[in-house]
Amino acid sequence: MKVCKFGGSSVKDATQIKKVVAIVKSDSDRKVIVVSAPGRDEKYDEKITDHLLNFATDGHYFNEHKIEVSAKQSYDAIITKYEKLCEDLKVDKKIIIRPLKKELLESKLKGEKKEAFYLSRGEHHNAKLIEQFMKQQGINVKLMLPEEFGFILSEESRNGKVLRETYENIQKQFSFENGEIYLVPGFYGVTKNKDIAVMSRGGSDLTGGELAYALDAYLYENWTDTNGVYEVDPRIIEDSKVIPRLTFKELRLLSSKGFNVFHFNAMLNCKKSKIPINIRNTNNPDHEGTLIQSERVPMEDTIGIAKLDNMASIHIQKDMLSEEIGFTAELLKIFGEFGIGTYHYPTDKDDIAILVDQEDLQGNINSLRREIEKRLKTGNLYVTYNLAIITIVGIGIKENTFAIVDAINALKQNHISFDLFDMSPSKISFHIGVPQNISDVALKTLYTNLIEPQYKTD
Ligand code: ASP
Repeated sequence: MKVCKFGGSSVKDATQIKKVVAIVKSDSDRKVIVVSAPGRDEKYDEKITDHLLNFATDGHYFNEHKIEVSAKQSYDAIITKYEKLCEDLKVDKKIIIRPLKKELLESKLKGEKKEAFYLSRGEHHNAKLIEQFMKQQGINVKLMLPEEFGFILSEESRNGKVLRETYENIQKQFSFENGEIYLVPGFYGVTKNKDIAVMSRGGSDLTGGELAYALDAYLYENWTDTNGVYEVDPRIIEDSKVIPRLTFKELRLLSSKGFNVFHFNAMLNCKKSKIPINIRNTNNPDHEGTLIQSERVPMEDTIGIAKLDNMASIHIQKDMLSEEIGFTAELLKIFGEFGIGTYHYPTDKDDIAILVDQEDLQGNINSLRREIEKRLKTGNLYVTYNLAIITIVGIGIKENTFAIVDAINALKQNHISFDLFDMSPSKISFHIGVPQNISDVALKTLYTNLIEPQYKTD
């Protein structure tokens, strides 16, 4: 059987939920359905989950993010959303709206426990609503609430981790004895102390991944609003195509900020038990999407190209640096202390560069420089801003390292110079750093020279 997860955009209104039902009905292997909270609302264009958090924090959450929506407005947006869903799907409002209002207005919880509980209500009530609609549509559906079947999470209310007993609970309670389809709200679970806790944001992917793993599904379908993973960002290259198959590792390398289709932790168990994940489009169910697998036959060298924008390189020069044991460890520790994530670290005898997200340096660069100079006793620290890192990915590169030559030649012929070149240890990707202002041109050049020709030889 398949486990299917439908994300926020797939369950955001009646039209979308009807599509979900049609998809579920069209394949009898779709036995476990995980749903998110409704996606963005019409009025403020915010996710219902965010409205719930805003209401739980008396408006602080949106205020901190400079979004001008008060707690009261969030409350109204939530209630309006569920009322409209009930009306459009002809679901009795009493079943959904009354308990929802009661929970939101009468809860005695405080702090993170309150936030977690409110956050969870998005998926909870959406699943209850979808259950009613599915029943009307003649589906033999059984609602499985995480607090009832025992989706047990650790005590971190807002970042709960799945505990082992969850798997046994799932195996026991999902018996498939009466031919039913199980419907599960994603994202939340319950602690051993019976408190509601949520996983990290985007956590419905995790619920689906855990169910697929525990039930040994042959496929985990992840339904969203895009046809799959594209070879390159289609916002930059319109003709870019969806990659039909790629490995877990390739997907990791290809995903970049703003272009994440999937919660990575959800992949870990699927990867371990070799359950493929199929990214599908609820709005285009005839498209086969992208299949993410443990292994594939490399029919081509380059499968996709990712681009990380607005990066900065911090280059440190110090004589005999490579002989100083613990230098790199101390350097990375300093970045850690500033809460700055680091990407690549090209090194040489007397030089090391650390690539970081430029935004993370804002307000930090002065003290960071001071700290590095003081603790690592070096005055030679140079920062290059406005870099884009282009990552060329494909397991075939390992077999054909000349793909690198093709990339460099293509850049040379188009007079594009680059600031950085780095091959990854896995040999299935390499990085080229170019100035931000020519990064789209560089990406197009690499696409036309590395990916397009592969179609012509098909
Ligand atoms: N609704 C939750 C969120 O917005 C979880 C999810 O959609 O996966 O993060």
